[in-house]
Amino acid sequence: MSLLITPHFSVAEFACKCNDPNCDRKESPDVNSDFIQMLEELRMQTFALRISSGVRCLQHDLNISPKKNKNGGVHVQAIACDILVGHLPSADILKLTTKATEIGFTGLGFSLANQNRSKRFLHLDSRSGGAIWSY
Ligand SMILES: [Zn+2]
Repeated sequence: MSLLITPHFSVAEFACKCNDPNCDRKESPDVNSDFIQMLEELRMQTFALRISSGVRCLQHDLNISPKKNKNGGVHVQAIACDILVGHLPSADILKLTTKATEIGFTGLGFSLANQNRSKRFLHLDSRSGGAIWSY
């Protein structure tokens, strides 16, 4: 049984997915507590959420997004996650987005055009300020 952070999210779901066996963000991703409570609230207001990426160590973050600032982005800060949406009808993706902004998520990134539906995702984070973009 996997350790839970909240009733609906586990440590394993948020652990860094890099290949480094010594990565310190695997066993202890240390997700920001306000962020994970917001995500739990979003889950309660919607449906089961499939997390494809949670917390990342700096090296993994740089490997995924080489253009990002070298101190690491919001995944390194543990205030972000990517949610798979390719299996959802667009009305559900819209509901997810609407509820997310109501709850207070401030960074929204959309990957909705990947030919491979199973790779489509919605990025959410709780950065200060706000941002919206597509991949
Ligand atoms: Zn890592």
